[in-house]
Amino acid sequence: MKGKKLLSMIFISFVLAIMFGVIFGPAMEAVQPLGTLFLRLINFIIVPLVFTSLIVGVASTGDIKKLGRMSMRTVSYYLGTTAIAITIGLVVGKLMMPGAGLDTPVSEQTIEPQEAPGLVDTLLNIIPTNPLMSLIEANMLQIIFFAIFLGLSITLVGEKAKGVYTFFEGFAEMMYSITNIVMKVAPIGVFGLVAPIVGQYGPAVLLPLLKIIAAVAIAALLHVIITYSSAVKLFAKMSPIHFFKGISPAILVAFSTQSSSGTLPVTIKCSEENLGVSKKVSSFVLPLGATINMDGTALYQGVCVLFVAQLYGIELSFAQLLTIVLTATLASIGTAGVPSAGLVMLTMVMTSVGLPLEGIALIAGIDRILDMIRTSVNVTGDASAATIVSALEVDLQEEREATQSVPSKHL
Ligand code: ASP
Repeated sequence: MKGKKLLSMIFISFVLAIMFGVIFGPAMEAVQPLGTLFLRLINFIIVPLVFTSLIVGVASTGDIKKLGRMSMRTVSYYLGTTAIAITIGLVVGKLMMPGAGLDTPVSEQTIEPQEAPGLVDTLLNIIPTNPLMSLIEANMLQIIFFAIFLGLSITLVGEKAKGVYTFFEGFAEMMYSITNIVMKVAPIGVFGLVAPIVGQYGPAVLLPLLKIIAAVAIAALLHVIITYSSAVKLFAKMSPIHFFKGISPAILVAFSTQSSSGTLPVTIKCSEENLGVSKKVSSFVLPLGATINMDGTALYQGVCVLFVAQLYGIELSFAQLLTIVLTATLASIGTAGVPSAGLVMLTMVMTSVGLPLEGIALIAGIDRILDMIRTSVNVTGDASAATIVSALEVDLQEEREATQSVPSKHL
């Protein structure tokens, strides 16, 4: 199925899912297995796809300096955009006041705070003590670590490792072709995932909290339109419309699955095929992004913290707002790319400024909807990084070629 046709099919089934959900309500639960089918299929590709394509990507780069530069750019972009995202979330939360004047009773339910993991431990944990276990447990950061080392050692060993390279190259190609097959099921999967959610959340559940949903949606739109559009235009010289069009199948899948890790195969496919991102860049930047870059989660945390503060009539000082920016950046890095992970991490941000955790109970009721919005932003952010890093690598390559284009008898 060609990219354009696939996108239209996904889009049509998305619209149909909303219509069916509204008309048939909770009865749409019946199509959930179609969604689960798709979800399982994309989850089944992730580990071998990331592992093999990253090994091949690093081995064909064959240059530690280049890899270091790419990592620096990627991580700086991820951190920078995440901080902007939280700030946008806080500003929107301050202006829209989603928690003010709400008379929904706050539940007495007790919620356990999430402990902030230590920075040193988190970094040390990236090194696998048993790399096969990392593959089995789908520990993405450890898999990235293992694959980078394998790729580098293929280059270092040279001739003797050629067979290994060819093996992984073939394996990666096979994983790409499996991804293409799985994507054919995407329209059915999106229908099976979205219709039950729409059917389950009637107006009675959503209406009282419409303001917070709108606040998260507006913050998300602002971040996507302002931050990503300008970044893509400025650094990759790409028209934002072309960018959003190219990545839209992944956005729809992220919206439906609420999982950036689950969407990864689709993000990789769209970035390479529609945005011209090189395999070398996508195989590194995107899996890393699906694990640590969560701009949508960060801005959601900004809005939610203000929501709870307003709900309890607590005024936050400037120092507390700064603390929120810092902890929400860390919390979003620590958030796994799976449904509802951001809600759990929200407890960490709230504890950092001493807000009552009970306020989260209200958000929990509609978190599925907020998760759809934030995961779409998370995935778009990853793709924007891949597009920019890839464009910068190409620029550098061209520059180098231009300066080295002295005629040689060997050419
Ligand atoms: N569901 C989000 C994601 O996968 C994480 C979150 O819950 O914020 O990107």
